[in-house]
Amino acid sequence: MSTKDLSSIQIYKRLLKAALPYWWAFVFGVVGNALLAVSDGTLTWGLKPLVEKGFIERDELFIHWLPFIVMGFFLARGVAYFISSYFMTWVGRSVVRDFRRKMVAHLIRLPATFYDQKTSGELLSKINYDTDQVSEALSEAIPSTIRGIFTTLSLIFVMFNLNSRVTLLLLIAVPILAVYINKISRRIRKHSSHIQTTMGHVTHVAGEVVSGYKVIRTFGGADYENQRFEAATANNWAQELKMSATSASSVAGMQLIGVLALSIFLYLATLEPGNVMGTEMTAGTFAAMTTAILGLLRPIKQVAVVNSTLQRGIAGARSIFNLLDEMAEQDTGKERMDRAVGEIAFRNVSFHYPSTEKKEEVLKDINFVINPGETVALVGRSGSGKSTMVSLLPRFYDCIEGCISLDKKDIKLLTLEDLRRQFALVTQNVTLFNDTITNNIAYGDMRGTPQQEVLRAAGLAHALEFIEKLPKGFDTEIGENGVRLSGGQRQRIAIARAILKNAPILILDEATSALDTESERHIQAALEVLMKDRTTFVIAHRLSTIENANKVLVLEQGSIVEFGTHDELMLKDGSYAALQRAQFKELAIEQELLGG
Ligand code: ADP
Ligand code: MG
Repeated sequence: MSTKDLSSIQIYKRLLKAALPYWWAFVFGVVGNALLAVSDGTLTWGLKPLVEKGFIERDELFIHWLPFIVMGFFLARGVAYFISSYFMTWVGRSVVRDFRRKMVAHLIRLPATFYDQKTSGELLSKINYDTDQVSEALSEAIPSTIRGIFTTLSLIFVMFNLNSRVTLLLLIAVPILAVYINKISRRIRKHSSHIQTTMGHVTHVAGEVVSGYKVIRTFGGADYENQRFEAATANNWAQELKMSATSASSVAGMQLIGVLALSIFLYLATLEPGNVMGTEMTAGTFAAMTTAILGLLRPIKQVAVVNSTLQRGIAGARSIFNLLDEMAEQDTGKERMDRAVGEIAFRNVSFHYPSTEKKEEVLKDINFVINPGETVALVGRSGSGKSTMVSLLPRFYDCIEGCISLDKKDIKLLTLEDLRRQFALVTQNVTLFNDTITNNIAYGDMRGTPQQEVLRAAGLAHALEFIEKLPKGFDTEIGENGVRLSGGQRQRIAIARAILKNAPILILDEATSALDTESERHIQAALEVLMKDRTTFVIAHRLSTIENANKVLVLEQGSIVEFGTHDELMLKDGSYAALQRAQFKELAIEQELLGG
């Protein structure tokens, strides 16, 4: 599933491409940083005239202007700092905003097989945490690095002017530093990728604690969840500390290499005062050189510190690009379809879930035809493949073998948009959004439907009776996945949504399972009106639903064992009749318990 591993060069290139639209802000940032760096060099270089003109020659004009020069100098520095900081943040936050938008837009297009393998916590952590790493790298690490480079260059330039021969000698520290940085960076990226993974686990466990709070409390899962979360956070903590150890020791390591240069210089300068390597060295030059070398230690430290932020950003970018490179749903179909008539045929359809290890067949050689407007009831034990079968219709998954056709056309030839427009789906697990009731019923393509039609759909779904009792009626916000509604109320909203969609094919996968017998009977009537002129797949346990269906399809471990009308199958006295008898017995027991 995962894409091939991206090389660092590829990551740099793609990051650069992502930052390219903000090049102008980047230029501002770089200019601000360059000014800051040059001002560092100027400050050092100014030491010489300060000592010579201020104390030795006592130049009156210089002494008079000195306070203003200092004030003006630092004012300019302040402006430079603002520009560099603001515009670099601009670049960083813009790139992250774009990444987040792209990630979510991509998530919406990823196939069901992707979601079967990933936890929502992992994905949320990528969107929240990994992107932030990139932002920090762009808005903090890159400017610091640029500033460090400029400071270094300006200080080396000053040193060259002071004494080129000695400076050349001291530059041997540069390749040593480069090798060291390269080695450390690799290690930091590795730690960083581990931190991301552990962060994903932290989000994942915390998410389950939040969403599963009722089960956790009633089943005494508090200790277990606490332990799970402790383990996840301990892991994250350990990885962060490993990273900190690597990064902090690299600061010391790199400074040590810098100090090596300083030691060499001090040794040479004091060996033969006034004359180093056959060149003249006055007290002023010595002071300026020493200050310059000491000044170099700061950017070296800075580079060491920001290097970890930079490498974290690169690891974050790798994770983002890996997600963006996940294969989106294959929308290879080209043919358009306006409104289907509703003939559906399964031909030699076999299927297994691609995500499972053993590739065990969930559907085996399925063959049947449903005429337009017919209702087919899918019957079978739990796990026999009923839901899987209907999820092949809107191509949430593709058949492994065989094909499904709609109006005699292979569904793979249709565009996903047109194919999915033909279906209205109500499942046992209702999905509602944290929005108003109106927006939940008139969802997606149906946004902006006249309120009158929404009202009619709600009425047909027997939802009106409870919606009207809510304080804000149709404008009531129902909470995440509709937590502020009862199970039956949520299901009625989902049914109203399906009614409003008015699609030619209806899929009801245990759509009325959360309803009490009373509401179910009401809705059943509404659903039957709805089913009348459209092809319907209904998975239900209620006898009346099944009896009224045109055809009954009995599944057993992924195979069709019986197919025909209710009466035919009852006469046959096979699996279906046995299932029916079992249900009758259950009903009888239920009625006895109720005192019937
Ligand atoms: P039914 O709806 O008849 O109760 P399902 O179609 O949901 O049965 O499941 C049929 C089989 O497929 C079961 O054995 C189940 O474990 C497996 N299954 C269902 N969904 C998935 C999935 N997303 N990934 C892997 N296996 C699945
Ligand atoms: Mg099911």
